[in-house]
Amino acid sequence: MTLPPAVNWHFWPWCNYGCTFCFATFEDIDRSNSLEKELGFKLLEEMAAEGVEKVTFVGGEPTLCPWLGEYLVKAKSLALTTCIVSNGTGLSEEFLDSWHEYIDWVGISIDASDDRLHYIMGRGTKADLAEGRSRHLEAALFAWERCQKLGIRMKLNTVVCKANLDNDITEIVLQMMPERWKAFQVLPIDGQNDGRVEDLLVSEDEFLEWVERHKGVSNEGINFIPETNELMTGSYVMIDSLGRFYSNIEGAHKYTRSILEIGIEEAWRENQFNEHHFIEREGIYDWRTLPSMDNDCNSG
Ligand code: SF4
Repeated sequence: MTLPPAVNWHFWPWCNYGCTFCFATFEDIDRSNSLEKELGFKLLEEMAAEGVEKVTFVGGEPTLCPWLGEYLVKAKSLALTTCIVSNGTGLSEEFLDSWHEYIDWVGISIDASDDRLHYIMGRGTKADLAEGRSRHLEAALFAWERCQKLGIRMKLNTVVCKANLDNDITEIVLQMMPERWKAFQVLPIDGQNDGRVEDLLVSEDEFLEWVERHKGVSNEGINFIPETNELMTGSYVMIDSLGRFYSNIEGAHKYTRSILEIGIEEAWRENQFNEHHFIEREGIYDWRTLPSMDNDCNSG
């Protein structure tokens, strides 16, 4: 099976947030052994040479990495579409002034219309959570506005769990007007969030009820993409901070050998991937064409 054109590179495993449901904690790997900066450039070259078209920089929190900007420049020099998935805290004016030309997409997570709910979910800086509060909503909305003003294409991510199951964020979403809005059924992954996430889990039916309440945004031009646990499983091409593909298909992360050690093709052969789910969750969309240039084929 050939490597799909969209890759999530979890190159920075550390985060300043404490989300209880986080399934990208990477406490199961030797994070101190993360790829050196120079090897990261090499990895981007390998991806581009293998036909990758879009790289999403994911964490942890990617903006904590001091050389994220240099990776963005490198990715653009390889004609890759770039995306950053961030909690928003590092998308400062200073960061965006320096690097916005190299950023095609930004994804920011907002789960609730109320920071009391974010606090219950741990969606806030560790410093704020220690003081019994979250100030995520305001920070995320500021970051969103800064990005939007710079012409960066925006997507919103929302994790649906026990804490926000009865919440309605339609109004906020319609103010933000993301191009794409992904809603995820909170996903338990052994070795990442077990022992923490259990009280937040929701059934597929509960998740779909939440989806039903919010699906009207599609009529306003937002591409709303709900992802059940089943659709999220095995359907993302993911590379960790040690330069290995990994899969969540078995309910825990399973890592291949390093791409830089055995080559990207061989490493991809070692990975488990569900192409059907990848297509079903719209893993391929027109990430290059600007909305004003949309044509009939554009699902993005
Ligand atoms: S902001 Fe993202 S990476 Fe950080 S703890 Fe929350 S879910 Fe995990």
